[in-house]
Amino acid sequence: MPIATVNPATGETLKTFEALAPDEIERRVAAAAAAFRHHRTRDFAERARLLRRAADLLEEDGDDIARTMTLEMGKPLAAARAEAAKCVKAMRWYAEHAEALLADEHPPADAVADSGASAVRVHHRPLGPVLAVMPWNFPLWQVVRFAAPALMAGNVGLLKHASNVPQTALYLEDLFRRAGYPEGCFQTLLIGSGAVESVLRDPRVAAATLTGSEPAGRSVASVAGDEIKKTVLELGGSDPYVVMPSADLARAVRTAVTARVQNNGQSCIAAKRFIVHTDVYETFLERFTARMDGLTVGDPLDEATDVGPLATEQGRADVEELVDDAVRLGAVPRCGGGRPALPGKLAGGWFYEPTVLSDITPEMRIHREEAFGPVATVYRVADLDEAVSVANDSPFGLSSNVWTRDEDEQRRFVRDLEAGGVFFNGMTASHPAFPFGGVKRSGYGRELSGQGIREFCNVTTVWYG
Ligand code: NAP
Repeated sequence: MPIATVNPATGETLKTFEALAPDEIERRVAAAAAAFRHHRTRDFAERARLLRRAADLLEEDGDDIARTMTLEMGKPLAAARAEAAKCVKAMRWYAEHAEALLADEHPPADAVADSGASAVRVHHRPLGPVLAVMPWNFPLWQVVRFAAPALMAGNVGLLKHASNVPQTALYLEDLFRRAGYPEGCFQTLLIGSGAVESVLRDPRVAAATLTGSEPAGRSVASVAGDEIKKTVLELGGSDPYVVMPSADLARAVRTAVTARVQNNGQSCIAAKRFIVHTDVYETFLERFTARMDGLTVGDPLDEATDVGPLATEQGRADVEELVDDAVRLGAVPRCGGGRPALPGKLAGGWFYEPTVLSDITPEMRIHREEAFGPVATVYRVADLDEAVSVANDSPFGLSSNVWTRDEDEQRRFVRDLEAGGVFFNGMTASHPAFPFGGVKRSGYGRELSGQGIREFCNVTTVWYG
């Protein structure tokens, strides 16, 4: 994939970039290693001062960087502004809380006495330069949710961003530089995915985090495994959205639409499979379809737009293939199922209609694969057991959403759903204070919260005789 900004709403190439030459990559890895030697010794107050400054600058830049994101990957402008604001909040949250999250731990006194020590403490020390391989779908947030905790822990970052968001990638490097971080603390490597392996194998790079597709995760994890380096993988998702009879149906329908089409349907934690109890199935399907069908598809820079284009031409082709395969095997399109007719330059954009498919069967690819676009599949189930079984019948296990007010049912779902999150009566959303990540093919490790910041720490036992 060339490193370029191509407006997905029109298909026009706006700006192209040269990939870094090997000697420039070497210079940047060396700068990261040198920066780490100092950054690891900065106290929390100094790290927090730098991160707060970055948050202030990002707050000032909010409108401009939102527009850049929209031009690069097509999310509606309001969503892009909200993403920038969420990053500001996360930076401030880590500036405030990282020291407590990384405070020394004291094992129980009887264990300390049993070991023959006078004292034992567990420290959380940084690991070193961390390579972050990131996707385009939340081009600021995915990076900030790695960078804010990593920098507060005393690590330094090397960002390999998706090739279609180079301007956002360069903005991030510039943001941290303007905030006062010394050279090498946070750098963008404009490189293609083929250059990732040699960076990851470099002995000065300590670890890697990747958010993206399963093939990319497998590739980075196998190289890191070969080098015995820590990785965190946040991969795809096909989150279930279960609606039981006790649900507040009006809210469940409204939220279902947002949960499916947020970010033009390209969110790993979007609800993708709607699993509805037979008692409320017909009503849910009718109201959900009507709302999906009523969404405005169009220019993401237009404030009236609900759903913009898919980020890449290949992304739209992948969604089309999944829908066509399902319909050929008997799925019923309740709305959408094709490309919308849009006027002028938008005719060259990569738009796809909000689509609802019912009558899904296990042979259809969409039953097992992730639909990374505004396409919902709806299943009818007879009871809670069947709801759990359909929800778990997926290679993915990122998060899950369940609409029920019945506490016994809630306990069963928490016990039985194979996912890194269970959200009742609302939609999955990340928060700096809550762990984020999945099981099965959705990856491993956690981001955000105490768990996330400690992923890239050397958890060190210090024993005093
Ligand atoms: P992608 O193709 O995997 O790209 C993600 C990043 O990985 C990009 O920087 C890409 O670089 C790089 N990459 C691709 N193949 C690679 C390889 N073999 N070795 C090293 N790096 C490689 O993913 P995408 O299609 O852009 O994003 C969509 C996927 O990401 C979906 O599956 C979605 O669910 C997942 N995702 C997951 C989360 C989560 O938190 N779990 C969040 C967002 C998205 P290039 O751009 O240069 O190819």
